[in-house]
Amino acid sequence: MEDIVSLCKRRGFVFQASEIYGGLAGFWDYGPLGVEIVNRIKAEWWKAMVSENDNIYGVDGAIIQNPKLWEASGHVAGFTDPLVDCKNCGARHRADHLAGTDSTDLAELKVLLKDKVCPTCGKKSLTEPRTYNMMMKTWVGPIEDDSSVAYLRPETAGSIFTNYENVRETMRAKLPFGVAQIGKAFRNEISPRDFIFRVRELEQMEMQYFIHPENQDQAYEEWREFAWKFLTERLGIDKQNLQWHEHAENERAHYAAAAHDIYFNFPQGFKELWGTHNRTDYDLSNHQRVSGKDLQYFDDATRERFLPYVIESSVGVGRMFLAVMTDAYHEEDINGDKRVVLKLKPELAPYRVAVSPLLKNKPELAQKAQEVYNILKNKFGNVVWDDNGNIGKRYRRQDEIGTPYCVVIDFDTLEDDTVTIRNRDTTKQERIKITDLEAKLC
Ligand code: ATP
Repeated sequence: MEDIVSLCKRRGFVFQASEIYGGLAGFWDYGPLGVEIVNRIKAEWWKAMVSENDNIYGVDGAIIQNPKLWEASGHVAGFTDPLVDCKNCGARHRADHLAGTDSTDLAELKVLLKDKVCPTCGKKSLTEPRTYNMMMKTWVGPIEDDSSVAYLRPETAGSIFTNYENVRETMRAKLPFGVAQIGKAFRNEISPRDFIFRVRELEQMEMQYFIHPENQDQAYEEWREFAWKFLTERLGIDKQNLQWHEHAENERAHYAAAAHDIYFNFPQGFKELWGTHNRTDYDLSNHQRVSGKDLQYFDDATRERFLPYVIESSVGVGRMFLAVMTDAYHEEDINGDKRVVLKLKPELAPYRVAVSPLLKNKPELAQKAQEVYNILKNKFGNVVWDDNGNIGKRYRRQDEIGTPYCVVIDFDTLEDDTVTIRNRDTTKQERIKITDLEAKLC
């Protein structure tokens, strides 16, 4: 983890939020290279989820919604984590993490934590576990009282449920159909940690799939498969780094009747990356009850009226970014030298190619290199110019940020319009014509 955190900082992928003020626990900023990868991940998900499916519609809801939404969804009452305080040093810890269990049952946790000491001060001075609500509060309007309290959404799903009927009607959608959204969510996590793995401001990519209840098992399996395929085929993540985890009953969120997570082999171990949940008609029935609006679906063909069930596919963008970085990160020994290389899928890499003149101070080389750079820049956009230090250093620098190819312009180029193109993963170099470069890089 330290290697990845250091690379992310050093090369402009991720910075601590408000670093010059000492940062703020649980908040991170993406830098120039990080935001490129994040944008590509989101674009790929949107393409696979929305653009390539005729029956999935996108929305972009507000972060702050009417607080009744979160009362109806059960978050105000039930979006909690178990917490213990240390009576000696005042530190707070996630009780389930400390107990080394997935269970959030307070009675079970009490037993498991009986002999535990505080990990901060080492004293046996922990309180009994209690629940703690993770919703972040704010006030809407100039008066800060109970009547103006609102919440920053803890998941994007909320405005998908409240827009279910709008989307169905405006898109003339028939079951099964899905509504997808990418956006920020906020959770007042007790102990944010493991770099960007557990944060307080996160971004989610979620899709709610509305179905006839009798299709729940089939749809559940389909969306589990979607998640697995997306990670392995679209992002190129190694299957060895992924495993399934089925939630036990004492572990499931308050809305879920079944939950399967894909765990990724993060630097701190296999942990949750992507959840597929069967939310049944939990949300629509609660929103129908609290709002008083009829949310039933009428099936023309069968003349049946019912509340759809919902299969949810939910993944965090930051966790996916961390998984992509971890999966891609390799250290190799090259003739006794350590080489750090990010073996990113070329489509995800911040830069598709780096262009260099062999020698910086030879104007004829620099000019020719600039011509090649312009051709590639026009074609691909994400092309970087690198003429700093010797060629070996440039290769290492590009390896570290995952640039799949480096193109070098040398004296032969001036004679025969060929360049050296060097492959990041194999480190092999070949000589090709400038006119063949575009096709090679596509
Ligand atoms: P965890 O058990 O790790 O707290 P969760 O089960 O509460 O996660 P969900 O509510 O299912 O997570 O959220 C869906 C996805 O959102 C998760 O699979 C994860 O990728 C992401 N996510 C949830 N909480 C966080 C967080 N605090 N920081 C970063 N990503 C998160």
